[in-house]
Amino acid sequence: MSKAIYPGSFDPVTMGHMDVIRRSADIFDELVICVLNNVNKSALFSIEERVKILQKATQDLPNVRVDHFSGLLTQYARQQHIHVVVRGLRAVTDFEYELQNAQTNRKLSDGYLDTMFLTTSLEYAYLSSSTVKEIASFGGDVSDCVPDFVAELLYAKYK
Ligand code: ADP
Repeated sequence: MSKAIYPGSFDPVTMGHMDVIRRSADIFDELVICVLNNVNKSALFSIEERVKILQKATQDLPNVRVDHFSGLLTQYARQQHIHVVVRGLRAVTDFEYELQNAQTNRKLSDGYLDTMFLTTSLEYAYLSSSTVKEIASFGGDVSDCVPDFVAELLYAKYK
């Protein structure tokens, strides 16, 4: 059975993430979305909130499971016996960061953990959780960027 982990901050999940999730769920028998705490980013939603949001957003995808972990992705992957990571590539600006992460994970795991990249669908190439938060914080329209219930949660946070 083929399995993969899609790790990220997902603060909150966007249509861009959802596109990667759906496409990965078509490729692998099981996809585990793992919410990790990115120490370089301050979060709007707690880990628990992000897990709940992802669970609701993926409820129609039976082979997708949502989890969270505080620690190294390589530790989590070994624990779960999953050796493939999925990451999304939006633009060339993502490439250097993602390449470094992929190589670090491979090195740290002695070759156990490999990374597979999906290029973003063009209509979501501009999307990031940070952009969505900025638009929502000023009351702008994020209906094309996130699932409807996530838009409501965002506006509630910035009330
Ligand atoms: P992280 O803090 O780990 O970068 P993010 O939640 O920002 O977590 O992103 C998780 C993954 O999803 C990354 O691989 C990122 O490149 C990818 N991603 C983010 N936005 C999009 C998008 N609009 N289209 C495709 N992939 C995306």
